Amino acid sequence: MGSLKLITIKRIPIRVHITFPLILIWAAVQFGIVQRNGWWGALFGIVVTLLLFLCVVLHELAHSLFALQFGGRVNEIVLLPLGGVAQMERIPDRPYQELLMALAGPVTSGIIGIALAFLTLFLFPLRIWTDFLRALSSGGDLSWSYLLPYLAITNLFLAGFNLLPAFPMDGGRVLRAVLATVMPYSRATALAVRVGQGLAWMLGLLGLFTRDVLLILVALFVYTGATQEGRLVQMKTALAGLRVRQAYSHSPRVVHPEEPLGHAVDLMLEGFQSDFPVCDEGRLVGVLTRTGVLQGLKEYGPQVPIRDVMQRRFLIASPEDDLFDVQQRMSEVGAEVVPVVDAGTFLGLLTRQDLEEAYRLVTVYPSLLPRRQ
Ligand SMILES: [Zn+2]
Repeated sequence: MGSLKLITIKRIPIRVHITFPLILIWAAVQFGIVQRNGWWGALFGIVVTLLLFLCVVLHELAHSLFALQFGGRVNEIVLLPLGGVAQMERIPDRPYQELLMALAGPVTSGIIGIALAFLTLFLFPLRIWTDFLRALSSGGDLSWSYLLPYLAITNLFLAGFNLLPAFPMDGGRVLRAVLATVMPYSRATALAVRVGQGLAWMLGLLGLFTRDVLLILVALFVYTGATQEGRLVQMKTALAGLRVRQAYSHSPRVVHPEEPLGHAVDLMLEGFQSDFPVCDEGRLVGVLTRTGVLQGLKEYGPQVPIRDVMQRRFLIASPEDDLFDVQQRMSEVGAEVVPVVDAGTFLGLLTRQDLEEAYRLVTVYPSLLPRRQ
């Protein structure tokens, strides 16, 4: 979704997000115009950024390989303008496993940085470092020999920045893993999330004072990352041990594929239901979501048969499925609703509202829905 696949390594697809070229444009402007190096500077900026992202892929691969080692699952690695993200489905539960997995990335970046620094010393005279730093700060002439020291320094920076003990940086996971040895996992997370949000505020204010747009963007990135991780773990803790059968809507109103879309609109207006299972002779053949209804109305009007606007490919859940797992699967593909099916028989629908309801109920009154360990 919104990304382009580059290559697959160890069955992990490596993708580039559509916003990724923004960082290349930024680099071209920064090295070409701001530092007054013209077209050569712009080209240098683009090349050095692409090489840097190659190092970022190695960093994310290191995390991913450790995750696979510990029985986790890695869906993909996505390159965003501000860095890479390895999308993992199951993150190792044991604190020491999470610790090793989190450290693998920064350690890899650190090793790359040190190796490149040694290579620079080996290939060039020592004064390349001072020349390079002067060229960076005062806009002196850029030389292609600065590629190596630039990559060495940025990789070392990457290692250091990611070790900051705050979510969503790797250091946040390290901190949580360490805290989780002396307190419950959810409290350890909450604490690491707070530290992340605090750090984001500091970075953001610093960015405002120094009028550094990139720093403000990084602050936003850190803040949303920390908040998301916090919500995820809250949700996971709240829904732990709950099953789909405890939350789904039994016997929802069913529509037929040959009925006009207007019929579904009538049902929506009549009651609280906004997503519909589409059944033909008792067999589930599709799902009609609220978004589907609205889009169909706009494009074809109320007379169009439901079969032309329903979703034919959709997730399904079984009543004994883990509620949190299903919630994760739904948010990964952006599904609003999942039909619940048991041995081929359609039982009902699990909607986003059902999930939120279950979440709210167990947060307010935990013993209302009994958990199974
Ligand atoms: Zn990392």
